[in-house]
Amino acid sequence: MEKSDFIAKIKSAGIVGAGGAGFPTHIKLNAQAEYFILNIAECEPLLRVDQQIAAKYSYKIVSTLEIIHNMVNAKKSFIAIKKKYTEAVKSLQKLIKEKPFIEIKFLENVYPAGDEQDIVYNCTGRIVPEGGIPLDVGVIVDNVGTVLHISEALEGKPVTERWVTIGGAVKYPQTIKLPIGTIISDAIKFAGGTNAKDYIIIDGGPMMGKLTTENDSIKKTTNGILIFPQEHTLIKRKQESIYVSIAHSRSACEQCSLCTEYCSRYLLGHSDLKPHLMMRKISYMNETNLNSYTEAYLCSECGVCSYYACPMLLSPKDIFHFLKEQLVKHKIKNPYAKKEVKNVHEMYKYRRAPIDKLVRRIDVKKFEHPAPLTETEPSIKKVKISIKQNIGAAPELRVKKSDKVSKGDIIAEIPQGKMSANLHSSITGTITEIADDYILIES
Ligand code: SF4
Ligand code: SF4
Repeated sequence: MEKSDFIAKIKSAGIVGAGGAGFPTHIKLNAQAEYFILNIAECEPLLRVDQQIAAKYSYKIVSTLEIIHNMVNAKKSFIAIKKKYTEAVKSLQKLIKEKPFIEIKFLENVYPAGDEQDIVYNCTGRIVPEGGIPLDVGVIVDNVGTVLHISEALEGKPVTERWVTIGGAVKYPQTIKLPIGTIISDAIKFAGGTNAKDYIIIDGGPMMGKLTTENDSIKKTTNGILIFPQEHTLIKRKQESIYVSIAHSRSACEQCSLCTEYCSRYLLGHSDLKPHLMMRKISYMNETNLNSYTEAYLCSECGVCSYYACPMLLSPKDIFHFLKEQLVKHKIKNPYAKKEVKNVHEMYKYRRAPIDKLVRRIDVKKFEHPAPLTETEPSIKKVKISIKQNIGAAPELRVKKSDKVSKGDIIAEIPQGKMSANLHSSITGTITEIADDYILIES
């Protein structure tokens, strides 16, 4: 296959990073790299998607990995996985026996072992520069869910479904394949409903996931729907308004600097990112002098500082998120022009967050269930498809109200010359509503 055909198939299928970021895959893979890394770290507690699809679809995944390896002209490919995913490890090991250009790299059971910059360091020993991306050091990283979508795209199938863990306070935690746009209240029913009287929903994992509602829907980037009792500490902290977070910082930050000492990017040698200094600035200055907060661009929003490190339960992560939004809004550019980093921090090995400890610290031990993969294909009669599910520009609508569509039909397309991703109908039916940010389809 020619590289242009390979990229065209991925572009046409509307693939974006399935691990949560939503970067359009046809842009990421339209490059050459010395190393390709398949990310099966799945380090967010409670999520059970990647480890299970890696076992179930190991043949498809390794065949597609081999194609990607050739297409990006890699010298070597790595499968970055945790040893504890024994079933997946066994199948993958068998399949790569005769493929010396693919190596399995076992990751430590720590958080955030799945951060792509952490993975790059652990597989290749290279450090992504501050303000840079893995390609700056000759590496491309893709999540296993994305690779599964690529294998389907090569068979001509667009992204219309994805695997999602429905977990937390539900009766039967499970991992299920759902059409993109499945309404979250329907998704929760497939897990037998909730155990909590009043509950709040997180789209994603407990560390990086965002609060959502029952009326929202599954996106190409949704790897988990987690239900938490309303009174859970994690929920209380995620619900705190940014102004309250800043006020708490002013009154309670004791400048112990543990948020910096444990910061995952600081430990990778990105020494311009020091969350405790940002907390000091925000306490004694104010958040309007945005030029002094550009280090926010270096933050991956992994949440270690807020949920693992801070003894005062403050939220540097959320404040960095807010500052990043403000910087973008005021068109203040990222000044960290790929500053070379020679060494990781001398304490890198000793300060990463062990998952068991993290699970206890964020109080989610009671929700740790296997969430097995369910083969049943749920019957979904109505989907609410978000128009923008990717980093970059929203795709342009190609349908109008009352149009009939079949599963897999294109409903929104990449605008000319923009970074975006195509969108397809995930069920067969009629377009019953087009809003600013979603399309409703009913069968
Ligand atoms: S860990 Fe918490 S208290 Fe300590 S410096 Fe950071 S934000 Fe302040
Ligand atoms: S969220 Fe906190 S720990 Fe993670 S990269 Fe940002 S500052 Fe560092």
